[in-house]
Amino acid sequence: MLKVQNICKQFYQQEILNNVSLAVNQGDVVVILGPSGSGKTTFLRCLNGLEKADSGTLEINQQKYDLAEIKKKEITQIRKKTAFVFQHYNLFANKTALENVLEGLIIARKIPKQEALRIAQAAIEKVGLSAFEKYYPHELSGGQQQRIGIARAIALKPEVLLIDEPTSALDPELIGEVLEVMRQLAKEGVTMVVVTHEMSFARDVANHVIFMDQGQIVEQGTPNTFFTQPKEERTRKFLKRIL
Ligand code: ATP
Repeated sequence: MLKVQNICKQFYQQEILNNVSLAVNQGDVVVILGPSGSGKTTFLRCLNGLEKADSGTLEINQQKYDLAEIKKKEITQIRKKTAFVFQHYNLFANKTALENVLEGLIIARKIPKQEALRIAQAAIEKVGLSAFEKYYPHELSGGQQQRIGIARAIALKPEVLLIDEPTSALDPELIGEVLEVMRQLAKEGVTMVVVTHEMSFARDVANHVIFMDQGQIVEQGTPNTFFTQPKEERTRKFLKRIL
């Protein structure tokens, strides 16, 4: 359903992504692992136009885009099919949890207010925060804010959820509640590409693990093969350091 081919990206003449390709099928939970600075976030951002790739193509449901020549209209199309969950939540501080979820439905999707309200409330219920609809972000814990970030993304019913280090800004005791929501979504068949340092999530929930280093995919496979029989020396070194 989503196919990326040969994405390249430089920042200030420094190569950050070097021919990165990936295929995601419906229902896949793809986890991207790798050391800090290996290009994971940049790659995810290139997938929905938050960052412009220097070259590469993206195909979603038979629609193909040249990422180097991407037009604003095409980015809008891509964002109808993908929704992004940010490391730092990116909620509007002056809007309640419910208004944050409603925003994209009403403004970007032009869904009538009553229907948008129904969809937003259902999404908030899904992340277990119905009692907090009227709270502002500063009245919520980091874990709750991230769950609203996830509700905002799933309310848009994207083909693919792109989730960027969803727990890395959280205190350890709040990580579990966010991973649990993602685990539940995976169980329901939501397709997602997740950048994370949470090895337990990669091991237990992913069906495909990608290991990136220095802007390239070094190794990929099922979690079982990846964690128990890594082929590449760089993967082994990485796993040795973090496990
Ligand atoms: P981490 O796990 O620490 O988040 P990452 O693998 O997600 O790292 P990226 O955030 O994609 O890595 O960054 C890859 C490299 O690109 C880093 O060296 C970073 O400094 C650089 N980089 C990222 N965004 C920009 C930008 N907007 N301008 C310049 N350099 C950038």
